[in-house]
Amino acid sequence: MKILKDRILKDGRCYPGGILKVDNFINHQMDPILMKSIGVEFVRRFASTTINKIITVEASGIAPAIMVGYLLELPVVFAKKKKPSTMENMLVTSVYSFTKQRSYEVCVSKDFLRPEDRVLFIDDFLANGNAAKGIMELVKQAGAELVGMGFIIEKAFQHGGDELREQGIHVESLAIIESLENCEIKIR
Ligand code: 5GP
Repeated sequence: MKILKDRILKDGRCYPGGILKVDNFINHQMDPILMKSIGVEFVRRFASTTINKIITVEASGIAPAIMVGYLLELPVVFAKKKKPSTMENMLVTSVYSFTKQRSYEVCVSKDFLRPEDRVLFIDDFLANGNAAKGIMELVKQAGAELVGMGFIIEKAFQHGGDELREQGIHVESLAIIESLENCEIKIR
C-alpha cells in the first residue's frame, strides 16, 4: 500500500531493539484519512472471505478495526488487557509483549465471541506474533473460527508472519518492514 509505505518512510522513527515508532499517524496522533484508506485496503484484501465480526486488541488496533467494521457494517470487539471486575463469562489468555517485555492477560466476554462467529483479526503491528497467538487462543476457547488476520505493519525480521502463514492462516500486511538495522527503514 503505497501511501502507507511513503508515510512510514516520511514519519516513522527507528528505536533500538527493532522498534518502529509511528506515533505521528497510528499509535498516538492518528490520521483518520490514512486510517480510512487502510480500512478500504483490508476490505479489498479480505473480499473473498465470509466474516461476521472483527476482533482486535486494545488500544492501537481499535482504530483500523473500527474502520473495517464500519465499511463492512460488522460489529467490532476489542480484547481487553485488564479483566474487568464486573464482567463474568470471560475467556482469558496470556500474551507476551515484545515492546513492554512482560506478559499481560487479554480477555473477551463469551457474550461477544461466540461459536457461530467467523472473525477477522485486525491489529497495528505484527512482530513475533504473540498478540496474534493470544487472539487465536481466545477464538479457539470460544469455539469460533478465525478466517484471517490483517496488520497495518508487519516486521518480517521477527518472523511472526512466517509462523502464522505456515499454519495456513490468511495473513495480510499492508506494509512489510524488511529491516530496521542501523536505524534505516527498509520496506519490501
Ligand atoms: P507481537 O505480539 O506480534 O510480537 O507484537 C505485536 C504487538 O506489539 C502489537 O500489537 C504492537 O502493539 C506491539 N509492537 C510490536 N512491535 C512494535 C513496533 O515496532 N512498534 C510499535 N509501535 N508497536 C509494536
